[in-house]
Amino acid sequence: MKTDVQIAQEANLKPISEVAEKLGINANDLELYGNHKAKVSLSVLKDNQDKPDGKLILVTAINPTPAGEGKTTTNVGLSMALNYIGKKTITTLREPSLGPCFGVKGGAAGGGYAQVVPMDDINLHFTGDFHAITSAHSLLAALLDNHLHQGNALNIDMDRIVWRRVVDMNDRALRKITVGQGSRANGVERETGYDITVASEIMAILCLASSLTDLKERLGRMIVAYNTAGKAVTASDLEATGAMALLLKDAIKPNLVQTLENTPAFIHGGPFANIAHGCNSVLATKTALKLADYVVTEAGFGADLGAEKFFDIKCRYAGISPSAVVIVATVRALKMNGGVEKAELSKENVKAVEAGTANIVQHLDNLKKFEVPVVVALNKFPTDTAAEFDAVKKACEDKGVKVILSDVFSQGGKGGVELAEEVVRLCDQNVAPYKPLYALELPLEDKIETIAKEIYRADGVEYTLEAKQQLDEIAALGFDHLPVCMAKTQYSFSDDAALLGAPRNFNIHVKEVRLSAGAGFVVAITGAIMTMPGLPKVPAANGMDITEDGEIIGLS
Ligand code: ADP
Ligand code: MG
Repeated sequence: MKTDVQIAQEANLKPISEVAEKLGINANDLELYGNHKAKVSLSVLKDNQDKPDGKLILVTAINPTPAGEGKTTTNVGLSMALNYIGKKTITTLREPSLGPCFGVKGGAAGGGYAQVVPMDDINLHFTGDFHAITSAHSLLAALLDNHLHQGNALNIDMDRIVWRRVVDMNDRALRKITVGQGSRANGVERETGYDITVASEIMAILCLASSLTDLKERLGRMIVAYNTAGKAVTASDLEATGAMALLLKDAIKPNLVQTLENTPAFIHGGPFANIAHGCNSVLATKTALKLADYVVTEAGFGADLGAEKFFDIKCRYAGISPSAVVIVATVRALKMNGGVEKAELSKENVKAVEAGTANIVQHLDNLKKFEVPVVVALNKFPTDTAAEFDAVKKACEDKGVKVILSDVFSQGGKGGVELAEEVVRLCDQNVAPYKPLYALELPLEDKIETIAKEIYRADGVEYTLEAKQQLDEIAALGFDHLPVCMAKTQYSFSDDAALLGAPRNFNIHVKEVRLSAGAGFVVAITGAIMTMPGLPKVPAANGMDITEDGEIIGLS
């Protein structure tokens, strides 16, 4: 089979203006970035405010294995399939980050015959949104250090500066750095560090903002430090809000591209799925809902993190509700959840698949709590056997959920027709809005406990002394009404990456609690959460190249 980049480079792309026109987007509302990318003005959403929304479909997954289970591939393929059966559909996705692209995982534009294109642009600099976010973040860091240098009129406590720096790269050497070294003229010496751009609170804000005004309000609320009296010092206190918003004036507009089969795709924003909520921007999703009858969107990691945060954070803030959920699984991942080692995944092992279904069954039970209908998309790999497929089918059908084989990776939209038809059937059935898992009025600890017990099936939650103090402090600052953003390993329902399947008899350990006052959530950190990833011994970057003729090699 051809590589992803070969398939993408052979694609028959339409001019993006044509794709936009079909959606009813006015030429005045389109800002072209070459022939195949465009930004869509925020006035499209405003002008269509009274139009009814299309149906929203969430794509989520079982607990992933290190390779990723194919959510993006399924998302793109399902959109193409819906298009194929004559439904006006838009796919909405997160923007890929350069860190994983050059590291282990590769790009994030789908795979095989279910990709968004131009995949090289999307995976690399795209329309510069990440650059704008990095710049806005850097500006605030520079203003903060300059404030210290100029005499620290706000009495910032040097030991309680929480604003770090960001760059869109996996670069472990930057995790801890010292700034301001040398003479006095070089600023105040202090320890700080870098996170990857997708971990920036500004990324989460861009993805939750409902307008430029809302963006500004959220930017202004971001806490950069605490003063010597223990009060929060915000971006607004540093008078940074206006300039940051200015840097983000284009980044806030959704990006329009297309799939290999010319289905429109909004790819906009890309927050981390651990310390942030892991979904594309609210503005892109809402604009898409005004322009199409079906909108397919994705949440990062497995449903224990991605779907829960999609419902309890994104949908709650945006006032939107999905009509159906697609949960992506692979026989390989279920086998791994059933205890098989990675090297053995290609051999048939029905027993292991059966054991691994405990994982998907828990996700199905969990999703029932949000009261949205579900279908399982089994993402087909060549090594899957019929007996293994039947094992997954039986476990899910016992729960009243259909399992449909999806072959969009090798066939494109055609390979997802049965899935698309089931999704349409579920959407047509469902009219009631989803039910959030918890009420915002609950104390923060109760919200965390609800997620831990109801979704992860933990016995309880243990806090470090530090986390307890942070919870008290957040409540004292008046932010206890915010939703909770759990930062947990994606590999297990528990906070121990090694506990696969559907573990029981464990506690969740909250080590630290952080307030993202601008984004509007409280992050509960369990285990070691990496906000600046490193590169592996042989990074994907080592296999990449471009020829004199512009042929791209090694990007996936
Ligand atoms: P996720 O969104 O869940 O992280 P992706 O859709 O990005 O997963 O897929 C992860 C990787 O697996 C990609 O490199 C993709 O090309 C590959 N992949 C996905 N589905 C298949 C499949 N059915 N067969 C082979 N490779 C696949
Ligand atoms: Mg993905």
